[in-house]
Amino acid sequence: MSTVCAIATPAAVGGISVVRISGEKAFEIAEKVFAPINRKVSEMRGYTAAYGKIFDGEERLDDGVLLVFRAPHSYTGEDVCEISCHGGIYVTKRVLRACIKAGAEPAAAGEFTKRALLNGKISLTQAEAVADIISAQGGQSLSCSNAMREGALYRETERISEKITEISSYISAWIDYPDDDTPVVTSEWLEEKLNEVNADFERLLENYDTGRLIREGISCAIVGKPNVGKSTLMNLISGEERSIVSSVEGTTRDVVEETVSLGGAVLKLADCAGIRETSDEVEKIGVGIMLKKLKNADIVLAVFDGSREISNEDERLFELISDKTVIPIVNKSDLEQRLDESEIEKRFGKCVIISAKDEKSIELLGAEINSRLDLAKFDANAGTLANERQRGCVLRAKAAVENALSAVRSGITPDAVGVELEEALNAVFELSGKSASEEVIASVFERFCVGK
Ligand code: GDP
Repeated sequence: MSTVCAIATPAAVGGISVVRISGEKAFEIAEKVFAPINRKVSEMRGYTAAYGKIFDGEERLDDGVLLVFRAPHSYTGEDVCEISCHGGIYVTKRVLRACIKAGAEPAAAGEFTKRALLNGKISLTQAEAVADIISAQGGQSLSCSNAMREGALYRETERISEKITEISSYISAWIDYPDDDTPVVTSEWLEEKLNEVNADFERLLENYDTGRLIREGISCAIVGKPNVGKSTLMNLISGEERSIVSSVEGTTRDVVEETVSLGGAVLKLADCAGIRETSDEVEKIGVGIMLKKLKNADIVLAVFDGSREISNEDERLFELISDKTVIPIVNKSDLEQRLDESEIEKRFGKCVIISAKDEKSIELLGAEINSRLDLAKFDANAGTLANERQRGCVLRAKAAVENALSAVRSGITPDAVGVELEEALNAVFELSGKSASEEVIASVFERFCVGK
């Protein structure tokens, strides 16, 4: 395999930048580019660092630090050298170019992690977790990705594939040597075992939706008629003066979006234009966008003004959100209350009564969102599915197990069951990467940045 190099840090000005080299010739190339004080790169032991000068041929580019890892004790499993230079864009690019001149090839996106996979350092699901750790925006999402990085999902797939293999081997033994002492494979036994596997798949699929909310963030639309305090609430949660707050109706003319972390979960908040008939063209566009946001929202924060009675506009809102997961919020609790909450509660359950002007309201709201979406029961440390690819594999495996179950129930010969189990096993192996095709692997690494 060739020796590759890439800038591992962002293409921006910073304190330091890192250029990474991995492959058989990593030390040879580093030796040409980096001159440590009083020692030779080739003599450096793994896990050691040296201060020195960085060169492009005869031209001195910078001072820096070289960190070396000897195969197989490195991220990629190959010899790896990392050169840290000053964090300027130009100087970093020059260091990269010097490495290429010295014989390295530019690495493709995710190539270092791909090599770690091909060299058996990590499984495919662990590689996917690396990308998730990089994109994690909240505490829970990071814990999930870390659990997967540590192999939680891989171990779960191993456990399930062992179960499937056990059933298959019993069937094969029974078919091949029916007269020997092999235990008789009864349809009751088969059904029980297949149901167990099916339940494992079901659990993985059930957790997927909650996991998705935790990883990708919860799309949360703040809706309500004008002037109920949506923008004030948005500002309170996001801690910023993003939405324009004013007491003239219809000032939130567009959808204002903000990603915030609340109680460990990530909320993708959209403060939507007020719901009302309008002749103002700009505001009409805002209302249109709002309706779209509403459609895609995982949860709707429906805001009502506690100091006013329910109006026709509130009732229109009831209809628009009738099929969504709604947290009804009665705002302006600091004013004299005129709203009859029972009207709202009979449709959407208990109201959260707050004042968007009071900091303490955030906690109340965070707790309610957690309980509504059942986030607390989610175990970030368990093996959970992280993306559509993995979910697709489980769906395929589950369909095969269900086919096997119907074959058992309709008394079809055990070898038909065996064929379905093989398909289930293939899907599980594709999930863990044990038998993933090149296309599958390529599509996983498309998500990665260069240098990872
Ligand atoms: P929006 O049109 O729903 O986004 O409403 P705004 O957030 O612009 O608020 C409308 C008005 O209500 C502003 O004058 C806010 O200061 C005021 N307001 C918002 N929340 C509260 C609250 O909890 N108590 C009181 N007294 N006024 C509030």
